[in-house]
Amino acid sequence: AKAHLDAIEKARALNAYVLETPEKALAMAGASDERIARGEARPLEGIPLGIKDLFCTEGVDSTAGSDILKGFKPPYESTVTQNLWNDGAVMLGKLNMDEFAMGSSNETSAFGPVVSPWLRGNTDRREAARTLLNGAVHLRMSDSQAATLEAGGYKDLLVPGGSSGGSAAAVAARLCLGATATDTGGSIRQPAAFTGTVGIKPTYGRCSRWGTVAFASSLDQAGPIARTVRDAAIMLRSMSGPDPKDTTCADLPVPDFEAAVTRGVKGLKIGIPKEYRVEGMSPEIEKLWQQGTEWLRAAGAEIVEVSLPHTKYALPAYYIVAPAEASSNLARYDGVRYGLRVNGKDIVDMYEKTRAAGFGREVKRRVMIGTYVLSAGYYDAYYVRAQKIRTLIKRDFEEVYAQGVHAILTPATPSSAFGIGEKASADPVEMYLNDIFTVTVNMAGLPGIAVPAGLDSQGLPLGLQLIGRAFDEETLFAAGQVIE
Ligand code: GLN
Repeated sequence: AKAHLDAIEKARALNAYVLETPEKALAMAGASDERIARGEARPLEGIPLGIKDLFCTEGVDSTAGSDILKGFKPPYESTVTQNLWNDGAVMLGKLNMDEFAMGSSNETSAFGPVVSPWLRGNTDRREAARTLLNGAVHLRMSDSQAATLEAGGYKDLLVPGGSSGGSAAAVAARLCLGATATDTGGSIRQPAAFTGTVGIKPTYGRCSRWGTVAFASSLDQAGPIARTVRDAAIMLRSMSGPDPKDTTCADLPVPDFEAAVTRGVKGLKIGIPKEYRVEGMSPEIEKLWQQGTEWLRAAGAEIVEVSLPHTKYALPAYYIVAPAEASSNLARYDGVRYGLRVNGKDIVDMYEKTRAAGFGREVKRRVMIGTYVLSAGYYDAYYVRAQKIRTLIKRDFEEVYAQGVHAILTPATPSSAFGIGEKASADPVEMYLNDIFTVTVNMAGLPGIAVPAGLDSQGLPLGLQLIGRAFDEETLFAAGQVIE
């Protein structure tokens, strides 16, 4: 814990943590030491973790990356974090994220962008990156990188992805051993792919959503970002499990995910969906995808081409369903119950002033889209149709799995990480397109893992995604291990 607190301090320029909790970390680590001395060590005893600021932590500021929640200290702990503490893990602090988890670059955060520890091009860095992928190096920001940041010039610095950008950057930069994250449309898998880390979004219902600030309740799932497939398996096991406080949380036993890691893929059928060969995909990603199929084949899997015909409707449908649910979930930030309040001449004026000051641009955009698609005149034309598409997407997967396919291999993202500021100011749709390979998985409620699979010609990490059957994360860990 001390070594990590020290590393966090030296890498503050990355802006990965929005809150450091050194006293809590040392107290928890001390309790771990005592349990170890008594021979009562728990599965995650003393493991220092970073927590995405979407998880409510009792008595500790929990902001969801928003000004509207600044100063909010929840009187309760989220089930996922409580599960981790019950297993002996240590909290280092709270991690930066896109505001209310809306974004793909961590640039919508009220705390400012997170900087990826990866740099383009520089050959020394590339060497460092290679070593980093092998888990051997403690990569910290260089003096010149810190200087660039301090001068306010973000040029040439890369986004870590989002919305769990702080989680991914912290894991990649060795500022924690693992981090909690959440994924509504790709927010675990895309940042993991951008930073050469492993991220798994489990099946909807595997982790309790209790105490996790809601974005789109029917899509949101918690999961870990970790350095290796094995670490992710160990963390997910602790995070998961039934919870009477969340009725959508599955009442199913949690398998020993770690044991599945070394299971191999012999005899498994892996599907390659032809609809994921989208126009404009970089040839490097295409090549890596091919490479991935060869690795799996060499390990004994059978590779088959499959079809998910409604894939092209997933992104537009997601960007209706997610804002619709968000507009409803965010109605509670009214200046009365939580965090910020800006006084007005009457209560409606107070609501308006509070929300105008407390929400950022992207959140306001989503609330407006959401209320529009839910409004009486447009509900059938947009929201109901998007829900129908959601059913068709789910059926696409069911049909493929009914053919005996165990998992599906796709790229995790259409490109490697982009620069800070590169896409933020452009048409928001350009940012939304980043989620093209990930949103289908949330729409269908299935598990998906992103695993680092190589570096592109700029020396930046690229990830592959494996999509599994419902509640079969074990196959994803087994196949992910073959690719890692
Ligand atoms: N990038 C997607 C969005 O902005 C997904 C975010 C997420 O998974 N939380 O909605």
